[in-house]
This record gives sequence, C-alpha cells and structure tokens, in this order.
Amino acid sequence: MRWKGERQSSNVEDRRGSGSSSIPGGLLGGGGIGMIIFVIISLLFSGGNVDLGSILGGQGAGGGGYDTTVVQQQQTAPADDEASEFASVVFAHLEDYWNETFDTYNLDYTNPTLVLYTGSVRSACGQASSAIGPFYCPGDQKVYLDLSFADELSNNFGATGDFAMAYVIAHEVGHHVQYELGIAEQMEKIRQQVSEKEYNKYSVRQELQADYFAGCFAKYLAGETYKGQPILEAGDINEAVFAANQIGDDTLQKQAQGYVVPDSFTHGTSAQRVAWFERGYQYGDLEHGDTFAASDLDLN
Ligand SMILES: [Zn+2]
Repeated sequence: MRWKGERQSSNVEDRRGSGSSSIPGGLLGGGGIGMIIFVIISLLFSGGNVDLGSILGGQGAGGGGYDTTVVQQQQTAPADDEASEFASVVFAHLEDYWNETFDTYNLDYTNPTLVLYTGSVRSACGQASSAIGPFYCPGDQKVYLDLSFADELSNNFGATGDFAMAYVIAHEVGHHVQYELGIAEQMEKIRQQVSEKEYNKYSVRQELQADYFAGCFAKYLAGETYKGQPILEAGDINEAVFAANQIGDDTLQKQAQGYVVPDSFTHGTSAQRVAWFERGYQYGDLEHGDTFAASDLDLN
C-alpha cells in the first residue's frame, strides 16, 4: 500500500510507554496467564470485542512465553514511528471512507479514536494486555492497538505485508461502524438474554460483518489515488485475504489445540472470514453486509 506522505488521522492517542508500568511485576510472574484470562473475561462481559490472540494465548507456550513477551514489550521505547504513521494513515482513510458512506445514507457518523499502546492499556472495557490482540471498546469508542501485533501477525500467523495490518485496523473500525449503527447495543441486549453458546452464534455474525466492512473499505481504497498513483499495490488484497484466513476460529483452534470446537467459535471459520471480506470487496455497500439476516454464512 502506498501511504508515505498521506494525511494522518488526528484522532490518535499515543499512549506508548505511558501505561506500561501499571502491571505490577508480581502479577506477571506466575500469575500471568490468570491475569490474561481475567482480562479476556472482563472484556467479554463489558462488551469489548476481543479479536485475536486470545485463543492462542493459553496454549503451547505453557504460560511462560507470554509473560516474557509482555515484559519485553514494556521495555520497548515508542521508537517505531513508521508503524504508527502507517496506522494513522490507514485510520485517516477509514475516517474519509466511513464519513462519506454514512453521508450517502443520510446517517450521522462520529469518528472513533485510535489508541496506540505497548504491553497493557486501560480502556472503558477494563484493563487489557496486548496478548489479547487489537480490540474495539464500545464504551469509549476507541480502537486499541499495540503495534507489535504486526510482528505477531507475521511470526505466529504467517500474515506478512502492510495490508494485513490495514485489514486488522479496518476490522476494528468495522466494530465502531456497528456501534454507530446501533448493532453493538443490540448485541449487548442479546448477551443478557441468551446462553453463551447461543451468543457465540451472534458473535460470529458480528465479527463476519466487521470483516465485510473491512472488505468495503478495501474496495474504496482500490479506487483511490495519491499524487496520481493508485494507493493499493499488487498483492495488497491477497495480504488481507490471507490474514483473514489465518485468524479463522477453526484454523486458530487447530493450530493451538489440534482440534476444533464449533460451538465455541466467536469469529467464524477461515472460509467464512475470507468470504465475507471478499463480499465486502465486491459490493462495498451496507446492504449486502447484513450477516444477521443471512440464512447461510457459508458464501459460495
Ligand atoms: Zn472483531
């Protein structure tokens, strides 16, 4: 993706290096996984959208690996400014796209905020560790992103390329779009009325819709230029599709535990995530993205 020199969003809160000392060392040693699980549970119950990493989190490394990761991230100074500039440019494009789109439907749209952090962060949805991956908190309408997630995407998920990260940011902003459309509020009501197993089915539809919205954004960018050059480069869409495939529930579970538990799916299978992203890339409108009305989530 071409992005250097383009407008950066002004709705970015840079908290890198500021909140890192808020995790006491004692919690990290020994209790790390417990803490991470607690954070995931508190995010789930407060309505945050935990997206990535949580399933892999408790597996394989046996716990110690995560503690080390968090500590390393805490010691990293906020020096990676290329990554933050990239995220801010993507966020600015998302602002342009969603404001335009809501305008065409005569709907009001308020921009979300992007919070950059390292290690751990406090949100209206609770304290969170970067081990859970990027998330959107409807309570404060902010997207929380630890930029080191790009390394996790590439090292743990094999998803390389800048547009993989653009897809992840667009997916999170997709949750903000759901907030603006009142879908987040409806999900909160449903959460209080149904069993966890039943709620997971709604969650899958909500997540696939965020993928659809990310696809819509990709379609928009494919038609945009900067200084006469197309913004998207060859391979960008494939990078997003590959990332979507790598973070499907079935793929993650197979990787982490060797088997798949469909009732526990919250985001959809790899095939579904790819299909809904591609559908968004095909249509680029709100109408075709009603995953809640779709009788069959398995497209094609
Ligand atoms: Zn999500």
